[in-house]
Amino acid sequence: MNQGVHLTGLDQSELVSFVEQLGVPAYRGRQIFAALQNRRLRNFDNMTDLPKELRARLTQVASASTLTVESRYVSEDGTRRYLMRTHDNLPVETVFIPEERRDTICFSSQSGCPLQCTFCLTAQLGLLRSLTAGEIVEQIIVALNDTYGVGVKPPRGTNLVGMGAGEPFLNFDSLLKALRIMASLEGLHIVPNRVTVSTAGVVPRILDLANVPDRPHLAISLAAPTDELRNELMPINKKWPLEELLSACKEFEKTLRPGERFTFEYVMLRDVNDSEEQARQLANLLNRYGLQAKVNLIPHNPADPLPYQPSSEEKVVLFRSILEAKGIHTFVRRPRGRDIFAACGQLAAKQGATNQVIGSLPAGTSLSA
Ligand code: SAH
Repeated sequence: MNQGVHLTGLDQSELVSFVEQLGVPAYRGRQIFAALQNRRLRNFDNMTDLPKELRARLTQVASASTLTVESRYVSEDGTRRYLMRTHDNLPVETVFIPEERRDTICFSSQSGCPLQCTFCLTAQLGLLRSLTAGEIVEQIIVALNDTYGVGVKPPRGTNLVGMGAGEPFLNFDSLLKALRIMASLEGLHIVPNRVTVSTAGVVPRILDLANVPDRPHLAISLAAPTDELRNELMPINKKWPLEELLSACKEFEKTLRPGERFTFEYVMLRDVNDSEEQARQLANLLNRYGLQAKVNLIPHNPADPLPYQPSSEEKVVLFRSILEAKGIHTFVRRPRGRDIFAACGQLAAKQGATNQVIGSLPAGTSLSA
């Protein structure tokens, strides 16, 4: 595996400085940025607009890709899950979800996750490590290249959600850097307004995000209407309980601009958090803080080692109607890619989970240019 600086994680001005240090004119830096981010090339050899000597030099001191695709799973509903490996052999999972008018790519911010949410399979991996900005950007490049062809402009818009493995707010700087790189007009041009980042409730970073000028939309994973239950389901609640979390949300809400979305995610676990009483508690809680935010109900995506079942459809409908009656806009999320373990909470480098594997690749193969 090629070592050296991973150029996919540099913004345009950093790339310019990088080539200048090699004694190469600045415009070559801009050219390389466009080759990586706009033409989505993952190999210097394919950057034929660069002089041969420069390509050879870059190969020695840098890399244009570090992730390798180990397996790709394709769902009945068109969702694709990629299991990739970092240069140090850690799993990274990315999900591509086609929709009629736009595509959504769900990326991971960490390999594994340190939070121990009891309903999430990724938790069972523990934290392996946080991903670099380049590793975050590369996930999107791999998914787009695989779906549409190397460098081909996607026919629909691309939305991103930071809801894959890991806690994005425990990797805040790399996350924001990756989003900045991807927003570039000379690159992928996926602007923050097309991105939603989900946190389990890292309160200080919610407050930090309030001061970020070009920020993504925010989602908060709630999963319970009381501290007692939330402590059990999401142990991070012991560090930042509901009162601190919702106060931070209120602060954040004050900084919302027109068109910005701010949502709560509530995974529906049968007989655990889906009763009528809990719906009322949830509505009262959000109303007590005067939060205008919307609630997304996510049917639990089951997995063998997890001790939960999804709520019945009737329960979800009833829960929703109670929230709505108390003035809370509520949506029910349709699970995607469950059959290939691509749905929320199912990412844990699971292999052979399905007979739908298409294009399983030998380790070390890259789906790149
Ligand atoms: N750590 C971040 C982002 C990853 S989880 C966070 O907690 O927000 C992304 C979403 O998936 C969260 O809203 C989480 O509650 C939800 N989720 C986790 N496990 C799930 C499961 N088994 N079924 C359905 N949703 C799940």
